[in-house]
Amino acid sequence: MRPLVLQVLVCVLLISSACEPIETQIETKPSFVGQVELIIPVQGVQPEHLTDTFDDARSEGRVHDAIDIVAPAGTPVLAATDGKILKLFQSDRGGTAIYQLSTDEKTIYYYAHLQRYADNLIEGNSVRQGDVIAYVGDSGNAGPGNYHLHFSISAVSDPKRYWEGTSINPYPLLRSTVR
Ligand SMILES: [Zn+2]
Repeated sequence: MRPLVLQVLVCVLLISSACEPIETQIETKPSFVGQVELIIPVQGVQPEHLTDTFDDARSEGRVHDAIDIVAPAGTPVLAATDGKILKLFQSDRGGTAIYQLSTDEKTIYYYAHLQRYADNLIEGNSVRQGDVIAYVGDSGNAGPGNYHLHFSISAVSDPKRYWEGTSINPYPLLRSTVR
């Protein structure tokens, strides 16, 4: 019986501590992603290792609109937040990629240049923050050996048109994460 009592106690503590900071978050960190707390979506990467490349120029007059998170090949890529695997996608630019939809269906998280998907990952899967969804690679136009995760966030009005949307800079959101 004792372990059960302890479990209940821990749950109560978790619930009460999880409820308290939400109001302060709204005041201090207004953003398109609202109250959602993201984690850095690459295992082992700390906030101070991130570089803001959101406004960098890319080919054909495009702007990067994303952050590149450098990590060794095969490093686990983690779901930045809870949500659903909306689309597993292959393209010349992004290579092997994932579109994840947020739980409230207002935000898209895009992970690209992947080496491979996590085993058994399929479209429609629900994922929890921190779940391993893929592995860092150099697919698409990353350049051979230039292993990194290309990660972008966009606010969408229609999740069925997941490739459209207003880009949000992930850098300040990830930079303020506490691991
Ligand atoms: Zn990139």
